[in-house]
Amino acid sequence: MKILVANLGSTSLKYRLFDCSGEEEKLLARGGFERVCDYSKAINSCLEELLSAGHISGEKDLAAVGFKPVIARGVTGCVQMNEEVLSAMEAYCKMAPAHNPPYITGVRLFAKRMPTTPMVGLFETSFYQWAPEAAVRYAVPQEWHDEGVRRWGFHGASHKFIAERTAELLGRADVAERARMLYVNKGASPVEKPDLRVVSCHLGGSSSLSAILNGVAICNSLGMSPQSGLPQNNRVGDLDSFAIPFMMRQKGLSLEEIEPALCEEAGLKGLSCGYNDMREIAEQATLGDKNAQLAIDVLVWQARHWLGACILQMNGVDAIAFTAGIAENNPLLRAAICRNLENLGIKLDAQKNSADTSSGEAEISAADSAVKIFVIPTNEELVIAREVKRFLLN
Ligand code: ADP
Repeated sequence: MKILVANLGSTSLKYRLFDCSGEEEKLLARGGFERVCDYSKAINSCLEELLSAGHISGEKDLAAVGFKPVIARGVTGCVQMNEEVLSAMEAYCKMAPAHNPPYITGVRLFAKRMPTTPMVGLFETSFYQWAPEAAVRYAVPQEWHDEGVRRWGFHGASHKFIAERTAELLGRADVAERARMLYVNKGASPVEKPDLRVVSCHLGGSSSLSAILNGVAICNSLGMSPQSGLPQNNRVGDLDSFAIPFMMRQKGLSLEEIEPALCEEAGLKGLSCGYNDMREIAEQATLGDKNAQLAIDVLVWQARHWLGACILQMNGVDAIAFTAGIAENNPLLRAAICRNLENLGIKLDAQKNSADTSSGEAEISAADSAVKIFVIPTNEELVIAREVKRFLLN
């Protein structure tokens, strides 16, 4: 059973092909295209690459195409990406303007190109279905809540992978299995020894932290939309809601002017006055650019803010995992986040932390750190492939 997992960005298409026939999924191929103007062409090129490399003998070889859609009105979990679901995503385009439109377009084009192949999506909100009500409610009028103004939480596939992998690394096969089977069981099964507490720090183009208790997320720093939480690459992160009417009145801005300011010109880009890639920001900071340094400092401050919140809600922490582009590759940032937390039992090993961790998993905590600290490359595509397989078999 071969499953193609497609990651659709506004101008990129990344893919991974898995053989899901056996117990363990095998990665057969991966690739991608940047600066995509014509999505149909990118889809054709992806399929041609797989054919010419002999990974598939024809399109019929693909059991399904799997996706990682962000949010839809009234839909979460692993579902067939039919027109009803795509319409539900359209209804929330304004919640995720950078994410929903390319997914809707991409899925429709895949479906047109391969009309008999199932299109299956695992929504990024899925991992938070069992978060406590108090953790997801905003203090808004009921009517707003009913419209969808609540904390949804995102990066579900990534944080779920971390939930499984940290449990394995900590020798808790029971919790790893609990996390792996979460969607199959429609909630968590009982656990032998309770209280495995993990904070997953996904810091990349989009960033979020999740508190994971016994393999299940109890909160996520991303709220109603992917524009919330930590400062994102060019999206604002958390902001006092009254800043918007204030700026509209103060500067006579319209909603049409406010949205791009918050979604394209804010976040790390806004703070650093122009850079939205952490590599450039770090380089500029080293050269003495104060705005670039400030962007790093704000990201670190906010990450620590959420780290503290996650630890408190779980009455402690057994492991912290760093994942995604920034956290996997930036030892200085990891050190800044973990700085001066010895009283909480969190202590990095400076040497292990600064060793090259770009190629794989590493434990970077000091020998006398009560809390294990890991760098774990995330594998969202694997989580999606597994859920798509289960969806097909059920
Ligand atoms: P996304 O998948 O959300 O687009 P990534 O997880 O790839 O994002 O993270 C992108 C961020 O990670 C960028 O800010 C980039 O600068 C940083 N990053 C990616 N690779 C590296 C690297 N090798 N060294 C330092 N930073 C990196």
